[in-house]
Amino acid sequence: MWLRGADARLRITEIGIDMARDKIILACGDCKERNYFTTKNRRKHPERVEWRKYCPRCNKHTLHKETK
Ligand SMILES: [Zn+2]
Repeated sequence: MWLRGADARLRITEIGIDMARDKIILACGDCKERNYFTTKNRRKHPERVEWRKYCPRCNKHTLHKETK
């Protein structure tokens, strides 16, 4: 059945995407609270990333840094 083959290829593609993406935690640069759990593309962002995000503890937008 042709659908089976297509499904298998899709599965391989999904694994490939998962391998390229890194799970990261974004912590507020001000209070160090870990506010965001996300993924990033290691190929696009090989270094540590910093994003401006809303921090509920600071009640404002702060620079969130990637942490382990
Ligand atoms: Zn904060």
